Amino acid sequence: MSHDAHLAPIADGLYAWLPDGRGTWGLANCGLLVSEGQAALIDTPYDLPRTRALLEAAAPVLGPQGRIGTAITTHSNGDHSYGLAALGDVEIIGTRDYLHALDHEPTPQQMHALVAETPPDQPTSWYLRRHFGRFDFTGIDPVAPTRTFSGSLELRIGAAEVRLVQAGPAHTDGDLWVHLPQHGVVFTGDVVFADDHPVHWAGPIDNVIDACLGILATGAQVIVPGHGPLMTPADLRGHIDYLRWVRDGAHRLHALGVPAQSAALQLIDSGRYPGLGLPERLAITVATEYRHLAGETGTPDLVVLVGAAARIALGREQARIPGQRSGADDPSNAAPQ
Ligand SMILES: [Zn+2]
Repeated sequence: MSHDAHLAPIADGLYAWLPDGRGTWGLANCGLLVSEGQAALIDTPYDLPRTRALLEAAAPVLGPQGRIGTAITTHSNGDHSYGLAALGDVEIIGTRDYLHALDHEPTPQQMHALVAETPPDQPTSWYLRRHFGRFDFTGIDPVAPTRTFSGSLELRIGAAEVRLVQAGPAHTDGDLWVHLPQHGVVFTGDVVFADDHPVHWAGPIDNVIDACLGILATGAQVIVPGHGPLMTPADLRGHIDYLRWVRDGAHRLHALGVPAQSAALQLIDSGRYPGLGLPERLAITVATEYRHLAGETGTPDLVVLVGAAARIALGREQARIPGQRSGADDPSNAAPQ
């Protein structure tokens, strides 16, 4: 089985697990910090086979006596946390709000059922299979943080200083990012995506922008996004410009009374960021921003949000390949609603 990732050294005793996940969901970046016989993992892959592959790659770095004693989990989405189940007896650190966010996160069993057991003739099922069908959601018992904090938390792993900063609600309700001041590196979790349109479930977008500005203010020269290749501070500044564009566009269209799904389509059709993959994710981020503009405080239905993205993706696919339906057989379902 190919695990489409490798452990790359990015600073002294610091490694990044960088799957090539461009244009798809779920292939998250992870980090490994090793110092004076201690080690910490930052996030995990989505499933147990991929997590075991990471641990195998880490073994030569850890040495015969080394073990991972700490796992830092940037947020509750499974693509960053399901692999915690493979780590055994470790301290798991996340934000206090992570525990709340976990309440409305799909379980591995639900993900397996959504991907494997739903009829493939609906846009949502088609989309979930396309992007999540590569993962093995079986045999995973979700594991929650054993140590939580709000605000910020300073840690020491061997001689290495580690600073955790709460960012949520932003991508999710319980985000954090990880600053390694001696290394000049930040692991952002999913408050930052590279190469693809980001997806933000909690918002508002201003909170995501504030997190990005906080990351820039550290002066770190290497930024490891939640997904995609390593970034420079200049790359992150460009990403902040993108977020402001989405925010301003969503606010303008909301004020005009344009429904969220149509607003997402208008932003996509503007062609402003043609190099970014997964433009359909704008349906989710714009819907998130609209909820804030409407003062809604309830928990959104994640499957409904993915369905909105799926309809756009299918519509674009059918426009690109006339006559081909890519496994979803009711074109009326592809029409934006
Ligand atoms: Zn992610």
